Amino acid sequence: MKNDILSMTPEEIEQELQRLGEPKYRAGQIFDWLSRGIRDFDQMTNLSKALREKLKEEFALYEPKVLSKQVSSLDGTIKYLWELSDGNAVETVVMSYKHGNTVCVSCQVGCRQGCAFCASTIGGLVRSLKPSEILDEVLFSQLDSGKEISNIVLMGIGEPLDNFDNVMRFLELVNHPKGLNIGMRHISLSTCGIIERFDDLADRNLQLTLSVSLHAPDDETRSRLMPANRGRGVDALMAACKRYYERTGRRISFEYAMIDGVNDTEQHARLLAKRAKSVSAHVNLIPLNHVEEREFKPSTAGHMKAFIKILENEGVNVTVRRRLGSDVDASCGQLRRKIMKQNTEDKEKRA
Ligand code: SAH
Repeated sequence: MKNDILSMTPEEIEQELQRLGEPKYRAGQIFDWLSRGIRDFDQMTNLSKALREKLKEEFALYEPKVLSKQVSSLDGTIKYLWELSDGNAVETVVMSYKHGNTVCVSCQVGCRQGCAFCASTIGGLVRSLKPSEILDEVLFSQLDSGKEISNIVLMGIGEPLDNFDNVMRFLELVNHPKGLNIGMRHISLSTCGIIERFDDLADRNLQLTLSVSLHAPDDETRSRLMPANRGRGVDALMAACKRYYERTGRRISFEYAMIDGVNDTEQHARLLAKRAKSVSAHVNLIPLNHVEEREFKPSTAGHMKAFIKILENEGVNVTVRRRLGSDVDASCGQLRRKIMKQNTEDKEKRA
């Protein structure tokens, strides 16, 4: 198999060039073309023909293809389904806010974490994405939509801490001054709470925001919703969050999807407030997105209001995430699910 030049830093491309007996400065030129979405060595017109031939022999280039693109008529949110080089597909969402455009990227094809309310995990994990595949979600969403991306959230399909090394390399590439140059403070990484990895992340000393998908403040509810809680527990998660905050100085944010009759009672709100205050976390409430295959429903507006009031009275910093793209299946693996289902149905029809 040819080496994945798209996942290499300019410094690594330099080493490759040295190996090929070429001058190092060419690395910057190549990285620059790749960062602009050029995926054909022959279009790299400042390289000699001989070098282009050599590069073609050594490295494979790939450009993700748009399998589906849906634009919300409500708020302009764009949802892409990209085809990867092996035929797998992942989702990317581009959301426009007053302060800029945010892209929500996937880091795996499927997911092995099994959260009970999430569509991404239904078919299990197929494979992890390469750094270049995550990077291309940002790059080609920007090129196709014409919207300059200023913020990234790793909140698409997959568990970032289950694809740790590739996600770290993606962050290095997307943050590179010669690449897309997106600042770490404009990036959020969301995890269901793989606490064994929190220290590794803190070691990197990145200025990103760590979002923890909490969704319940007590073990009984959380273990029911999130298998990742079983054998770990909310106390251990809080201890890991506290340690992360102390080591990095970066405030953690708790994601909390409000589910009717499951995690939205007064007791849940009080315990959540206690948990959030214990680690100085910010709470981000999301009304649950209904997933066809799942029995859960979003909390009522009345319950949400009462819940927010308790948190606010307790002095917790709380925001409610605006629902964007609700007409384009813009949540968590739903588009990929839909297409996968259609494909299976088509296959069954043909059989
Ligand atoms: N694996 C990571 C990131 C992917 S999911 C994680 O668990 O954090 C991004 C966020 O969407 C998570 O907070 C996840 O719990 C939430 N989510 C998943 N399904 C949802 C649904 N149906 N409605 C609302 N939020 C959902």
